[in-house]
Amino acid sequence: MHAVLDTSEAVPRLRAFLDDNAPATPCLVMDLDTVRSNYRALRAALPEAGVLYAVKANPAPEVVAALVAEGSGFDVASTGEIDLCLDRGADPADLSYGNPIKKAADIAYAHARGVRRFTFDSDGDLENLAAHAPGSRVACRFLVDAPASGTPFGAKFGCAPAMAVRLLARAAELGLVVDGACFHVGSQHRDPAAWVAGIAQAAGIARELAARGVPTPVLNLGGGFPTGYAEPAPPLAEHAAAIRTAVAEHFAEVPELVVEPGRAVVATAGVIRSEVVLVSRKADTDEHRWVYLDIGRYSGLAETENEYIAYRLRTGHPGAPDGPVILAGPTCDGDDVIYQHTPYRLPLALRAGDHVDILDAGAYTASYSSVSFNGFPPLPTHFVG
Ligand SMILES: *Cc1c(COP(=O)(O)O)cnc(C)c1O
Repeated sequence: MHAVLDTSEAVPRLRAFLDDNAPATPCLVMDLDTVRSNYRALRAALPEAGVLYAVKANPAPEVVAALVAEGSGFDVASTGEIDLCLDRGADPADLSYGNPIKKAADIAYAHARGVRRFTFDSDGDLENLAAHAPGSRVACRFLVDAPASGTPFGAKFGCAPAMAVRLLARAAELGLVVDGACFHVGSQHRDPAAWVAGIAQAAGIARELAARGVPTPVLNLGGGFPTGYAEPAPPLAEHAAAIRTAVAEHFAEVPELVVEPGRAVVATAGVIRSEVVLVSRKADTDEHRWVYLDIGRYSGLAETENEYIAYRLRTGHPGAPDGPVILAGPTCDGDDVIYQHTPYRLPLALRAGDHVDILDAGAYTASYSSVSFNGFPPLPTHFVG
């Protein structure tokens, strides 16, 4: 049963906005005060680390502008995200092009716009950086050997640590400024041990490079800091303490730390309001009802794929008798099922036209919604605060 506990302060405010303004559903409403307070909480938990907000988590210009005003830096993955941040007033010096998969032309564009920090994980990308972003600061992403996250990244990014040593030494030879190693443990990581494993591996890379006369003054710990969804997340302080201890233990000289949080900055700042399209059963004797919402896998709930993220839900029937449900989206796609294995219960009184609010939905929702799959438009966002 996943309809429990309000932990987010933003929820009453966001629901009041939705009730008062009655915007068309589905929609996301973001509380910018919560974005700011999440950012500040991260800074307070790990004051020694520079923060690069991972724009892909929620690229709304309003969110970016709020974080520019807070002094945040930005982890960008494309020329579109570079333009977005610069248009909202970010200093190009505060941008890091963190995607190791990029075209030479996009590197040249970033460089022309003033971006001077890049991440790579291959010879090909490194050669393009040397050619099109000469003299820039670079970090090499290695594939961290850590337990899987809530939404695993697999093996798409990062190279073996031994190869990172070779590539960073080569970066120095090519006239680039070596920052050091970086890693990303995967998103929604609840176990601080993942960062500890990455820090130990990064320290090994730093030691080998030091022996070759290549200093690595910066350690980029990536993102992955968790948000409480159906299950509460360990407090940020726990991650910060584990990180601090591991850096002190493994590094002879403590490097400048950088983190790239996405989810932890924006998730709790958003609520999605959806509407029930239909409640039905597949047989008259079935205990489970199918509840079809006007939002699904393609219009914002992409992270329910494999049911990785189990959002908390709220209806207008609090405390009413409930029963088990399977939740699905509105499209004619058989994969557009939101939850069929995760046990959810919703009120027996739930009818077509009722609202279902999806909490902590500020990350990886609007930015993942398809342009118009099956005629359903992308998820619109409204703002408070
Ligand atoms: C997506 C991403 C992040 C942000 O991850 P969260 O889990 O949202 O904190 C950080 N760094 C890189 C390189 C990413 O790709």
